[in-house]
Amino acid sequence: MKSVSPALQSSRAGLSFLLFGPAALVLLMQPTRLSGLDAAAWLVALFCAALLMRFAYILRKKRRQATISNLLLGLLLFFAAERLAGIALRSPQLSSLMPYLPWIQAVTSIALTLCAIAAFPRIQIALAQAASARKEHADFVAAAESSLDDFYIFDGIPDASGAIVDFRFRYLNANAEMRLKINREDLYGKVLTEVRPYMISSGLIHHYREIVRTGVPFVAEIFIDDDRIKATWINVQAVKLGDGLAVTSRDITARKQLDDQVRYLAHHDQLTGLPNRTLMQDRLNQAILRADRSKNKVAVFVLDIDRFKHVNDSLGHSCGDALLVSVSNKLLSCVRKSDTVVRMGGDEFLIVMPEVKNLEDAMQCGLQLVERTATPSLLGDQEVAVTISAGLSLYPDHGSNVGELLKNADTAMYLVKTRGRNGVQVYTDIAS
Ligand code: GH3
Ligand code: MG
Repeated sequence: MKSVSPALQSSRAGLSFLLFGPAALVLLMQPTRLSGLDAAAWLVALFCAALLMRFAYILRKKRRQATISNLLLGLLLFFAAERLAGIALRSPQLSSLMPYLPWIQAVTSIALTLCAIAAFPRIQIALAQAASARKEHADFVAAAESSLDDFYIFDGIPDASGAIVDFRFRYLNANAEMRLKINREDLYGKVLTEVRPYMISSGLIHHYREIVRTGVPFVAEIFIDDDRIKATWINVQAVKLGDGLAVTSRDITARKQLDDQVRYLAHHDQLTGLPNRTLMQDRLNQAILRADRSKNKVAVFVLDIDRFKHVNDSLGHSCGDALLVSVSNKLLSCVRKSDTVVRMGGDEFLIVMPEVKNLEDAMQCGLQLVERTATPSLLGDQEVAVTISAGLSLYPDHGSNVGELLKNADTAMYLVKTRGRNGVQVYTDIAS
């Protein structure tokens, strides 16, 4: 439905008052000629003018109201013409036209009646619509206020070319008010990017502009790094509303933390906190891809604690657990940040060393690992010393994928076990 220009509506209302004003002035200057009927007619005209103003300013958006205001304008025009003619023809200069006065009054009276018949039912409908619109608005506010989500309505701010570049707060519900920690009355009419510069730094304002430009809704989970917002993670759904936006957002920080926790548990060993087999696959694949680009090698160590069953049997399972944690810490202390120490299960560990230059460097690291793990661990009040057997395979020399590298490092490790344990062995040595 096409809306009626507010300027046009205002000018119609202004015109009616321009016509109405002089007629009223002339009449008031001759109060003796104001009959009871005249006074009633003027009151009706005044009422119509007030209604016209009301329709012009309050209900100006709809065509139906435009029709009503046109009818009211017509009614006022005829009324003013009739009254002014009656007064003017009484002056001596125009007295010759006096015989035509009844005709003028008859025509305008018929026109007035027709206008009134057409206008007043429409006014009733328009008033009923206005009441229903008010109820709808009240229902909307009640629903928005009781929503568990944060809800905002923004009006678009156009630039010189008419493109929407920013937004003004028109409405926000109680939840949104709490989230922003500002009295909402203080926000109404304020410019979004001025109140929240974060909208620019995060690039969110660009998405909001695109919604208005394309009409395509925007749904995203966003990490908010902003003092003003209580939540860290929010889910945002924004849709176009005229030249502005309706935005619903929800604090999903707790769900995100739970997701992170679940992801962590799926990728880490609970006892030692080390990455597990699943994460190892990913890290080793990434290391292989990086090595392909840099022409470096990737070292894969498989390490198994020697005679660990004996520790369990002699000192107890919990002491065995503590020893596993101690060994994992020792392994971590020997490697770089870019290396990954993995607990494969039981007493078996794996280390991925990306960006290794040559076999000598890798063997040097392997010897350090064996040496460092052999130092005694303090478990409670007793010292326990264990050794490890380590097998080494290098990418691309001893395998082109995760499976081959693991298998060959494992083979090398078992050779150490058979040769008496406590040592490191590279896969190539077996082949030769
Ligand atoms: P080897 O030198 O041949 O490796 O002998 P081992 O005694 O270390 O034998 P193996 O590696 O085959 O056995 C590992 C043992 O680790 C078997 C199991 O009872 C024990 N184990 C597996 N997981 C855990 C754990 O989470 N905690 C403890 N305390 N022990 C575990
Ligand atoms: Mg073992």
